[in-house]
Amino acid sequence: MIKALLALVMASTFSENQAALLKEAGTVRVLYVSGDDDLLENKKSVAEAKRTIDGQKWIVINIDADQSDMDCWFLHELAHHIAWSRHGEDVELHGPEFQSICRQLVPRRKNYFCGG
Ligand SMILES: [Zn+2]
Repeated sequence: MIKALLALVMASTFSENQAALLKEAGTVRVLYVSGDDDLLENKKSVAEAKRTIDGQKWIVINIDADQSDMDCWFLHELAHHIAWSRHGEDVELHGPEFQSICRQLVPRRKNYFCGG
């Protein structure tokens, strides 16, 4: 997470559009868990976006996963939160609405990190 935060802070080249999307995501809490934690639906996930019943937004990070591209995965998960806020919880997980947002946020290898 620290690496992801540093990467985000150092990304002073964010466009106005990217900055607006980060703002749109609002408050997002971060939780580090081990790879075998029940909070992870897929134990191989690098990170997963979660919403609580009362609307809290979380990004759960698997500390046992490869952290080298965490900045992009973190932005991928943020894109899920924005897609859910805009289009509702039933929006296709990695569908066109998500991909459009993700591709605006993630700085590199968009096909890999955002699908498509
Ligand atoms: Zn995803």
